This record gives sequence, structure tokens and C-alpha cells, in this order.
Amino acid sequence: MGTYSVQFSCGHSQDVRLHGRRRDREYYISRAGQSGKCSACEEQERKDRIARIEAEFELPELQGTDKQISWARSIRAFVVGEFQRLRFDMSQTDIMAVLGIDEAGWWIDHRETRADELPRLADEHLLLKAKIAEPAVDAAPAHILRPSDTPVTATPIVVTIKPPFIELTSHEYHKPIVTIARDFRGEWQRVTRGSGYWVIKTDPLSGDPLHVAADLVSQLVAKGFIVSLDHDGVRNLVETGTFTPAVWRHVRMVLSRRGRLMAHISWPLSDDLYRQAKSLPGALYVNRAVQVPVIAIESVADFAERYGFALSPATRRAIERHAAALANGGTAETAMPRGGASDESKDLVVPEDYDIHEALRDF
Ligand SMILES: [Zn+2]
Repeated sequence: MGTYSVQFSCGHSQDVRLHGRRRDREYYISRAGQSGKCSACEEQERKDRIARIEAEFELPELQGTDKQISWARSIRAFVVGEFQRLRFDMSQTDIMAVLGIDEAGWWIDHRETRADELPRLADEHLLLKAKIAEPAVDAAPAHILRPSDTPVTATPIVVTIKPPFIELTSHEYHKPIVTIARDFRGEWQRVTRGSGYWVIKTDPLSGDPLHVAADLVSQLVAKGFIVSLDHDGVRNLVETGTFTPAVWRHVRMVLSRRGRLMAHISWPLSDDLYRQAKSLPGALYVNRAVQVPVIAIESVADFAERYGFALSPATRRAIERHAAALANGGTAETAMPRGGASDESKDLVVPEDYDIHEALRDF
């Protein structure tokens, strides 16, 4: 054991305390001379890597104290690496919501959070901020859309569009509203006991937010509800009937708890597709959806085509990879490549040879 003046390959020398067997110490010193960096150069490389990631993905400048910012930048760069490394099938909207957060404190608070859980937390954060920033009185004049027959209720349902979100507030309880909101993947946001509103989050698979909103409003009006709407474009789409209906039948790729790549098949509650989906090879029922191992992706592709499911970019890639593997006479991959699970090394390591997620590539 002792302190050695070690010559590093970067051209600097530094005093290093080395322990262990003589052979190991000699090995360390020889490696340092060939490819090691002194701690100052290593730190500089780390900073450069973070700056490169920030430039590549046009990440916003963070707000906070210098110390918070420096820490949060490391965490955020790590998360970008996780998004790429996991090849987790998140929508572009999800990824942008997370990477758009510019408060250093938020990143620090979530430094221990799994990357695939961040989109949900980012949504909560953004919604909370939108609530706070919202003026007491709506600036835009509301437009009232009425059903052709006698309305079911006298009070209008208020639909507010804040892409990618759509909010739906009703002051009365009616089952059809709940059914429609659920079919649009609405999440109930409780404000007080017995009051709240629905938040619908659109993404590229479901369709353009304005078209999704127009579809929602049309369905509500068709069920006999009066709708108050503050968006001219959406009102126009509803009145002319020129919107593209939202698609809520989705296939995405996800990682199971065991780190296996699965096709995650989800559909609106009011569509009765459980039996058909459950009959796919290896199908598992997971939280109102069915997951099928990637090995059976061909059956999933057939199922998706038959029932009009939208495929995420990663699902398309999985289908292509499977077809290519079959053409080559091999077997398709059944598990994620190395580094599937996110709870391993928390070091700031962004691999150089990653496969850029399609959603990230669009930035
Ligand atoms: Zn150096």
C-alpha cells in the first residue's frame, strides 16, 4: 500500500493511493499510462458528454442554484441514456414531457426513479403547474354545442384543450360520461371529495390532439350532452365532421418485471376483445391489457391487423426484426439486449453504441 505518482495517458500525473497486491498495483499503473485519465481530465470528459447530450436533444437550460443545476444535469443526461438504452416504448409526447422539465429540483427529487416511471410523474407535475398558472376567468369565449334532441342535462360539460391534454369537467354524474372518458383513457383527477375532472392524454398513436378532442365532443353531443368548448378549430372539426376518429387500440413494446420484451396490447374498456387477445400465444392479463412475449410477435401483428390496432414504432421494428430473422433461418430474439433493466449501475454511463429511440430521433 502506498501513494504513487501515476503517469496517465492524458499527459498528466497525479498522486494515487493504491492498495492490494503488488501485481495489481503495477497493472493499474501500466493501464493508467496506456488508457487512463487523470481525475481532472475525467471530470472534463464527463462535462463534455453531458453538454453533447444537451445539444443533441436540445434540452432546456435548467433553473435552480448552481449546485442544483450541476447535479440535475448529470441526472438528466443519465435519464436520456436510460431512454435510449431501455428502448422502452414510450411515446414521443411522454419523452418530450419529461425532457422538457427545466426545474433542477424536479430532476433531483426523481434521481432514484426508474426512467419508465418518469412520464407519469412529469404529467402530474405539468398538470399541477397548468392548474396554478390558469387564470381564474377563461380568456377565450366558450362555444356551446347542443345535441339535436332534448339535452340529457341542463349544465354543459366543459372540454378544455391543452395539447397533449384534454380536460373534461362535468358537474353532474352520468354513466355515459364516465364510459366515454374511460374509453378515451381518461384519468380522474380528484380536486375535493366528490369533485374533480377527467384528464385525457393524447399521443401519436391515438391521433392529433385536436382530432381526438373533436371525436370526444362529438360522442358526448351524440349521447345528448351539451358541451362547452373554447377551441375554434375543434368546434369546426365537430361541426363539419371532418375529424379523424381517435384510435385507442394500441400495441406497444414494454419490459416485463423480469426484463423480458413484451407486446402490450390495450383497447378501450367498451370493446370486448379480451377473449381474442388472451388466445394469443403466451398471453398474460396485465392491468386491463394483455401482454404477449416478443417471440409471438407475428401472431400479434395478425391480431393487430384484423382488429385495427395502431402499432408503436418499436412494435413495427420488432415485427421487422422477427421477419428478418425468419428469412435468415434463425430464431427471433426473445429477450432484451444487455441492459434491459434500469435498476443496475447508477453511474453516469451513456453508451456510445446505443440504438437511438425513434421518438428521440425526431427531436
Ligand atoms: Zn489529465
